[in-house]
Amino acid sequence: MTVSKDYCWSCNKDEPIPPSGAYVVCFECGHVYATEQDLIDAYNRIVTEMNADGARRYGDAHQPIALRTSADGIYFCQHCIHDF
Ligand SMILES: [Zn+2]
Ligand SMILES: [Zn+2]
Repeated sequence: MTVSKDYCWSCNKDEPIPPSGAYVVCFECGHVYATEQDLIDAYNRIVTEMNADGARRYGDAHQPIALRTSADGIYFCQHCIHDF
């Protein structure tokens, strides 16, 4: 079995880097974040799920995690949690 160098292990598909270039590529799972917004959206999606889960478990005691509007400070892949 041969695996394409573009293969993303998180999405289970080939993710070639777009002609315009990628904002960041995870070297662990191969996921391509084409733009900074892609990374922000992926982060916020996970935080939104975590906040919903926290609210279900802890109700009013839950301290929601803030959503981000910039990728500054997002240092890991949102799919495999590997550091960039
Ligand atoms: Zn990854
Ligand atoms: Zn992917």
